[in-house]
Amino acid sequence: MNELNAITPLPREGIGGGVVRAILFDMDGVLFDSMPNHAYAWSHAMTDFGLKMEPEEVYMNEGRTGKGTINILSNRYWGRNATDEECQQIYDAKSTLFNSLPEARPMPGAIDLLYKVRAQGLMRVIVTGSATHALLDRLNAAFPDLFTPELMVTAFDVHHGKPNPEPYLMGLKKANISASEAIVVENAPLGVQAAHAAGIFTIAVNTGPLKDEVLREAGADLVLPSMQYLADNWETLFERLR
Ligand code: MG
Repeated sequence: MNELNAITPLPREGIGGGVVRAILFDMDGVLFDSMPNHAYAWSHAMTDFGLKMEPEEVYMNEGRTGKGTINILSNRYWGRNATDEECQQIYDAKSTLFNSLPEARPMPGAIDLLYKVRAQGLMRVIVTGSATHALLDRLNAAFPDLFTPELMVTAFDVHHGKPNPEPYLMGLKKANISASEAIVVENAPLGVQAAHAAGIFTIAVNTGPLKDEVLREAGADLVLPSMQYLADNWETLFERLR
């Protein structure tokens, strides 16, 4: 419980300390254990084009657009941005590989936490950079009756992806609440940056290989080791954050 003890006195005082009305959830690496598949697909697809991307770098760039990710590597190895055609080829290769992998399972602890949040009468909002039309079907299959299409922000809803705060600001807007009435659950440095920039108290769950410091430096108010840990300690934590 060291992580929880570290948050007294109430850290939310600094951002207004409003009554919490909604929890905003990122999806990949928070609700689904999908990041190992993304890391595998990106690193292998890049290799096919002569670009070396270590799995850890995939985690560091989680949330960036495909094009943005590809250009980081193309600038390093080719000294220039990739052309639109190259971006498309690499992204297609990544997608094909990703789709050939077994479907990611729900993150352990995620459903436990969602049930607790629902029982408290809090809104559950999805804020993802993902751009899949079948997202709601997938969420409903894994987490039945826990999410509604009105409270979802996807890549289709925003102009700027994370680390821009726009996705989280859009989440607040859809829930019709202010930043002080929300808590974000994120796993990625760029996602944490986005949530922090939106002025929302941000819990980082470190479900990948990155060091806790990376998430703290991105602006996380609290870094916890897993979704299961967050679910198991939710009542205690929520009481302190209220
Ligand atoms: Mg994520």
